[in-house]
Amino acid sequence: MARLSDPITILKGIGPSKAKQFAALNIFTLEDLICHFPRGYEDRTKIVPIEKLEVDVPACFKAMVMNTPRTAHIRKGLDITKVTVADYSGRLNLTFFNQKFTTDQLQYGKEYIFYGTLSGDYMGYGMTSPAFEAIDSAPLTTRRVLPIYPLTAGLSNAAVLKAVRQALSICDVPAEIIPDDVRAEYGILPAERAYYAIHEPASMQEAEMAKKRLIFEEFFVFSAGLALMRAKRATKQTPPYTKTDLTAFYSALPFTLTGAQRRAIGEIATDLQRGAPMNRLVQGDVGSGKTMVAAAAAYLAIQNGHQAAMMAPTEILAEQHYASLSKLLTPLGISVCLLTGSMTPKNKTLTREAIAAGQAQLIVGTHALVSESTVFADLGLVITDEQHRFGVGQRSALAGKGTDPHLLVMSATPIPRTLALLMYGDLDVSILDELPPGREPVDTFLVDESYRARINNFIRKQVTEGHQCYVVCPAVAENDGLDLKAAEVWAGTLQQTVFTDLRVGLLHGQMKGAEKDSVMSRFAAGDADVLVATTVIEVGVDVPNATLMVIEDADRFGLSQLHQLRGRVGRGKAKSYCILTSHNKNHETLQRLKALCKTTDGFKIAEEDLRLRGPGDFFGSRQSGLPVFRVANLSCDLATLKAAQAASAHWIDTAGTANTPEANALRGRIAQLFARSQGTMN
Ligand code: ADP
Ligand code: MG
Repeated sequence: MARLSDPITILKGIGPSKAKQFAALNIFTLEDLICHFPRGYEDRTKIVPIEKLEVDVPACFKAMVMNTPRTAHIRKGLDITKVTVADYSGRLNLTFFNQKFTTDQLQYGKEYIFYGTLSGDYMGYGMTSPAFEAIDSAPLTTRRVLPIYPLTAGLSNAAVLKAVRQALSICDVPAEIIPDDVRAEYGILPAERAYYAIHEPASMQEAEMAKKRLIFEEFFVFSAGLALMRAKRATKQTPPYTKTDLTAFYSALPFTLTGAQRRAIGEIATDLQRGAPMNRLVQGDVGSGKTMVAAAAAYLAIQNGHQAAMMAPTEILAEQHYASLSKLLTPLGISVCLLTGSMTPKNKTLTREAIAAGQAQLIVGTHALVSESTVFADLGLVITDEQHRFGVGQRSALAGKGTDPHLLVMSATPIPRTLALLMYGDLDVSILDELPPGREPVDTFLVDESYRARINNFIRKQVTEGHQCYVVCPAVAENDGLDLKAAEVWAGTLQQTVFTDLRVGLLHGQMKGAEKDSVMSRFAAGDADVLVATTVIEVGVDVPNATLMVIEDADRFGLSQLHQLRGRVGRGKAKSYCILTSHNKNHETLQRLKALCKTTDGFKIAEEDLRLRGPGDFFGSRQSGLPVFRVANLSCDLATLKAAQAASAHWIDTAGTANTPEANALRGRIAQLFARSQGTMN
C-alpha cells in the first residue's frame, strides 16, 4: 500500500513532466490527487441505439466499425479522419479532427462504445470527435457517470481520471474524522465511500451524496478549528488591566459618544480586566465611529503601561487615523507615531527606534508594522482596521510582535452573521448599530445618461455652497471593449470642458503612494472641489465637508462596495447625496441598485448582496482571510455550514482533547486547512 503523503510520481505514467502539469493544479501528493474533486459530472450511463440519438443531446451508443478509418491531410495542422459505424438500428458517419493516433485504434469489424453529440439537419447527420472505448475495456470515459475535473494546459480529463483511479487503488482515502453519531444524524456517507464515490460514482445520486459528505467534512474541520483556537486562547493568561478609568479620555473628546460606542468600549474594558487575551471584533456601519472605540482601547492599554498598535490597510487611512488620534491623545500626554512604507528610510529608522525603546506608545501604521525590523518594547494591544482587507495571517503576524497581546479587529463591512462566523468565528463581537446624532441618511438616486447635465449642475451647486464632491469611476484608464468611465479620462474631461473654473483632482490605485497621499490631503484640506477617483477611496477616508458622491457605472460594483463608497459622504452636518449612474438595462441589475437607494442599513444590504452575488464577489477579488474550500461553496451551502458548526461545537465540548485516532486525524486536518488558508493557529 502507498501512503497519502507519497508523491504522485509513484504512479505509473506520471514522470517529471506530467508531475509538473499536476503541480500547476497544486497536486503533488496522492492525497492532493484524491482531493482533486470533480467540478461536475456527465451522465454517460445510458446506452441508446443510433436511431434514438437526438441532435445536440450527448449520449452513449454501441456500434461496429464498418470501414477502415481514412485520414486526409488537409493542410499543415489539419488532419481529418472519417469512419462509418453502425448498429442494428442505423449507420452514422464520424469525423475526427487531428486524432489520427486515436482513430488508428478503431478496427474495421470491431464493436466500440461511443459517447458524443449528434449534429446535423435534413441534409444528413453526423458526429464529431466522439469519445470511444473497446467494449471489453473497463469503463473509463463511457458507460459511467464521468467526473469532469478542473484541468490545466496539457492535462486531459482522461489523464486525471486515470491517475485518480490508480491512486484510489493503491492507497487508503483520508481517515474518517466525522463521528458515527454525527454521520447518522445528518445522513452522511462514511469517508471511505465518499472519497471513492466522488470520483467513481455509480449514479448521479451517489455523486451528490458524496459531495454532500465532503462539503460537510470541510465545514466540520473548519468550524472545529475555530472552536479549538477559541478554546486554546481561553487558557492563555495575561496580567489583567487595573487602570480602567476613562474619565480623562471622555472629557478630551470633542463630542459625546453614542450609546453603541459606550457599550462597545465597556465590553472591551471588561475583556481587558479579565486576565486573558481579548479577541474582539467591532463591527459597525460606515461612520458609526469605530476609530474612537479603538482609541479608548489604546488609551487603556497605554494607561496600563503597554504599547498599542493600529494597522490600517492603506497609507491614506493610516495617516488619517494618525492625524485624528494624535490630535485627541497627544494632549493627554500620549506619544502617538506613524509608521508607513513610504516614509523616508531615515524617518522609518527613527520611528522604529522609538518603538523599540518604548517611547512611542500608540503606533499607527500600514503593514510596515508587521515587517521584521519593527520591534516593540511591550506590545499589549493590536488593533486592525478594516479587517476584511487583511488575512488571518497578517493579523497574527502583528500579534506575534507581542506576548499574547489583546486583539481588537474593526470591520466596516457589515457581514451577514453566517459569514461573520466563518471569518471571525474565533472572535467575540461588539456591534455599533447606532450612528452619531444629527446624521441624516444619504439620499441616493439612480439615473441614466440623460441626467448628465443635471448631475453636473448639482455638482456645481454643492461646490458653490462650499462643499466638495467625489466622482467614482470603475476603471483607471480607457479600457478597450468595455464602455466604462475611466478616472484619468473623466477627470480630464470634467476639468477641461465642464468645470474649467473648479479644482478637479484625480486619485487612483496606480498612482505612487506619495502622490496619492498628497492628492488626498489636498482634498481633505479643501484644496480641491471635485475628486475623481477609483475605489481606492472606498476604505475609511474621512472628509466631512464632502456632501456628494457620484458613482459612475454603478452596476459594476457590488452592493456592499457601493454602500462603503457612499459612506464617504454624510460624515458631516450638511445633507449629503449619492448619485448612481448606469446605462445597464437589465431588470435585475436595476433592482439591485434600487435596493441601495431605499436603504442605508449596511446589514440589510450585505444580506442582499450575499444572496445575489455569493461570498466570492461579496468580498471582492482581493479578499483574503476566508478559508480555501475545495468543494464547499459558501453561497449555496450555508445550511450545511450551520449543521457542521453545531456538530463541531458539540465535538469540541465532548472530544476536543481526546486522544483517539479520530480526534487526532481531525486535528491534523484542521492544521492542513489553516495552512492552506495561510493563516496560523494561534
Ligand atoms: P467609522 O466607523 O466609519 O470608522 P469614524 O470612526 O471614521 O467611523 O467616524 C466617522 C466620523 O464621525 C468622524 O469624523 C468622527 O470624528 C465622527 N464621530 C465619531 N463618533 C462620534 C460621536 N459620538 N458623535 C459625533 N461624531 C462622531
Ligand atoms: Mg473607520
